[in-house]
Amino acid sequence: MTAVPGESELERLVARSRLIGADPTLVLYGGGNTSTKLTEVDHLGRERRVIRIKGSGSDLGTVTVSDFPGLWLDELLPLRERAAMSDEEMVAYLTRCLVEPDSARPSIETLLHAFLPATHVDHVHADAICSLANAPDPGAAVREALGEEVAVVRYLRPGFELSRRVAELADARAVVLAHHGLVTWGDTHEQSLGLTLELVGQARGYLGLVEEAGVEEPEPDGALVERFLVRLRGCLSGERRVVLATERAQQSLADRPDAEQVAAMRSTPDHMLRIGARSCVLGLDADARAAVESHGEPPRAFLVPGFGGVAAGPDAGAARARLEIAGHTGASVAATLDRFGGASWLSAQEVYEFENWPLELYKLTLAPRPPELAGHVALVTGAASGIGRDVAADLAGRGAHLVLADIDERGLEAVCAGLPLAVSVPGDLTDEEVVDRCVHTAVARFGGLDAVVLNAGIAATGALETLDEDDWERSLDVNLSGQFRLTRRALGVLREQGIGGSLVYVASKNAFAPGAGFGPYSVAKAGLVQLMRIAALEGGRHGIRANAVNPDAIFDGSKLWSEELRRERAAAHGIGVDELEAFYAGRSLLGRPVTGSDVAEAVAFLVSDRSRATTGAVIPVDGGVPAAFPR
Ligand code: ZN
Repeated sequence: MTAVPGESELERLVARSRLIGADPTLVLYGGGNTSTKLTEVDHLGRERRVIRIKGSGSDLGTVTVSDFPGLWLDELLPLRERAAMSDEEMVAYLTRCLVEPDSARPSIETLLHAFLPATHVDHVHADAICSLANAPDPGAAVREALGEEVAVVRYLRPGFELSRRVAELADARAVVLAHHGLVTWGDTHEQSLGLTLELVGQARGYLGLVEEAGVEEPEPDGALVERFLVRLRGCLSGERRVVLATERAQQSLADRPDAEQVAAMRSTPDHMLRIGARSCVLGLDADARAAVESHGEPPRAFLVPGFGGVAAGPDAGAARARLEIAGHTGASVAATLDRFGGASWLSAQEVYEFENWPLELYKLTLAPRPPELAGHVALVTGAASGIGRDVAADLAGRGAHLVLADIDERGLEAVCAGLPLAVSVPGDLTDEEVVDRCVHTAVARFGGLDAVVLNAGIAATGALETLDEDDWERSLDVNLSGQFRLTRRALGVLREQGIGGSLVYVASKNAFAPGAGFGPYSVAKAGLVQLMRIAALEGGRHGIRANAVNPDAIFDGSKLWSEELRRERAAAHGIGVDELEAFYAGRSLLGRPVTGSDVAEAVAFLVSDRSRATTGAVIPVDGGVPAAFPR
């Protein structure tokens, strides 16, 4: 194999780790670990042997030098003489051996690496190795597939005892940990990594694994899939909302006659931490609530016959990661069943002990506290500029997943590119097909919908006496009828989902205090407030809230305020165009300009559960205009 690059031994360890981490068939998301033994100078200037090992919870694919805490080997090795050591005792001991006292917590498998005499040690949960390690007789399967020189250790939870057992096998070529993974070593980086790749290749060959060309499955009925996903999301979202990720490529797993057997185990215990001890097999037309309730712990991964794989997570990234883990674990288990006609796995007691193991649960505590709207899915229309853009940025900052819609495709792309969890749906919202696509995208990408901010709108002016019929129709169509169609479509999904929801209508101060010559706009916005009230009346018993915000005179970044509109309004008020912004600010009670982020703040309140007891309300965001006080 080609040389592992790097200036120092530590850099080469990082490079080797990243090579392993880049291959999802070897390790996934924080799984596996690597180490190198080297000489360093201590705080007294003495040269001492040190082991550098991956810190607990860091990901091999993205590790850097600082993810490898060092431990003094001469302080670790005397532990080999001990007969036993509890996990707590071991962790406390390891902490005292750190080269840098404030470094990351070293891997739970540190002693396993330290006790092996080889300079470099790698540990992976490769799918193909796990397929052997979960055979009905793991020892026989490994001997037959990898040869007599590869030793097998019976399942033990990582810790002191397992480290001692593996150390006793240092004369072997490598060690397979039953129901867990592979340990290889070597005098050089290349030897250890090369042996991992060689054994994994041998295992794949033995299992008869070939790269599967994706089979084209017929597309299931879109409406059926949509109903399935929103119902599932609804019954998985308790105190916290979850987001769903889907993968059609897992349909071959889901369609297996033994799908229940595949779902009942994992390829390696590490995966249980992320996706639970077993997946839920659930038909597209099955009763999701009954299946979820009978599962015990809320399931995180699903096999859906006729569709594929689904995973739930606190955000889209976590759901996607869980889905990927479920795909690898499922493929590995399926390979075991196909090759050996059966499988062996941890006992129920061992599963329970692993899932409730404080040392592994520690990994999960490293995650930061989720933001206010984590797991929420919001659709924002008119998001390419002005208020819509500010609302989108604000909701994104609170952790919401976003579907953004606007007729301005390029503007929308620019907004979307700057937000982490946003997808765009360009199009004219007076087109029912575009409305449908917006709502469907929320379900297809994130599993459901929690809030809609109905913000798209156009300014339309003209005195009634001379008003063109088309201008009137266009204003009503964009500012009112399009909003009705979106309301209708969203209400259906929110009711089906069964966990309430929030509709926020961006109306206008003009709804209550119209301006002469501003008829088409003012009439439509007044209708929008009435539409909101009806939605509140009809949605209430399903926990669906509807409220409006009435902004006024927001110029910043707004497309609404075209040059023509500015000229017209300035003329209507008998002032110059450049006096317009100051005029609007000055006529309000607070005498201050109003910005898009002021509106976004009110919208966020109405979207969030902080306004859980409020529906049918109008919040003015206009600096205070007495004529427009809600009534
Ligand atoms: Zn492991």
